[in-house]
Amino acid sequence: MSKPTVIAVSNQKGGVGKTTTALNLGVGLASEGKKVLLVDMDPQASLTISLGWQRPDDLQTTVATLMSKVMNGQGINPGEGILHHPEGVDLVPSSIELSGMEVSLVNAMSREKILKQYLENVKKDYDFVILDCMPSLGMLTVNALSAANQVLVPVQANYLSAKGLEQLLDTVNKVKQQINPRLKIEGILLTMVDSRTNFTKDISQLIRDTYGGKIKVFKTDIPRSIRAAETTVEGKSIFAHDPHGKVAEAYKDLTKEVLNHAEKRIKRQSPQL
Ligand code: ATP
Ligand code: MG
Repeated sequence: MSKPTVIAVSNQKGGVGKTTTALNLGVGLASEGKKVLLVDMDPQASLTISLGWQRPDDLQTTVATLMSKVMNGQGINPGEGILHHPEGVDLVPSSIELSGMEVSLVNAMSREKILKQYLENVKKDYDFVILDCMPSLGMLTVNALSAANQVLVPVQANYLSAKGLEQLLDTVNKVKQQINPRLKIEGILLTMVDSRTNFTKDISQLIRDTYGGKIKVFKTDIPRSIRAAETTVEGKSIFAHDPHGKVAEAYKDLTKEVLNHAEKRIKRQSPQL
């Protein structure tokens, strides 16, 4: 089997649709027959809660427990701590306990690679691993970027802060140079778009112009809809909550774009027969 694609969904700006995208892209890929593992890398545990585990602090094993085991050289059993969602995705959940990890990582050996080490044994069971990052560029996000092959950057079209994006791109470049040379920006995803107005097109163009055409903006953008916000309390994806709505349609299109890229990448990497 070919190597899994590991995608970090990251932007240090809060509330731009990272968690919503990680969840719906994950379920979208699962419904295309792919094996998907989602990892909640945010102590706020929004992804865990959005998938229906409403009391993450009661969970016995979370990503924090698993990362601690890696740091302490303890063994991890196959499937340990991995939850199964009825829509066909697996989840390594998070809880507030993860906030302590940011501090313990500072003194750990290979501190940037703890998550990567954890995934090394786990990811072989999956086609896609999606890491939902917290809104910061601290050690937890650096761990996610070190473990990923790709970064997907949700950006709220209306509040685009070019400066914010620059900081993220800086961090991605540093991780690329120092830790993970194969890391690539998969693309920028415009989220919560009010309508496909000229303004949205201007923002797409602005991003392309500002970053020298080097960074792809996904063709798909995600419309704003109250339906998307409702899914959080239901523990379901948008595909289960509002299957015929425009947000479900958009996440389906995004899934196809991501799949296409991944297939091209795998073709490039596999030796000529
Ligand atoms: P954080 O930085 O806090 O982790 P985030 O970037 O993960 O936030 P989300 O939690 O996905 O962002 O979304 C922020 C809020 O916007 C949530 O309440 C979510 O339900 C809502 N939301 C997400 N996508 C949409 C959409 N397409 N239309 C309307 N509301 C949305
Ligand atoms: Mg989030």
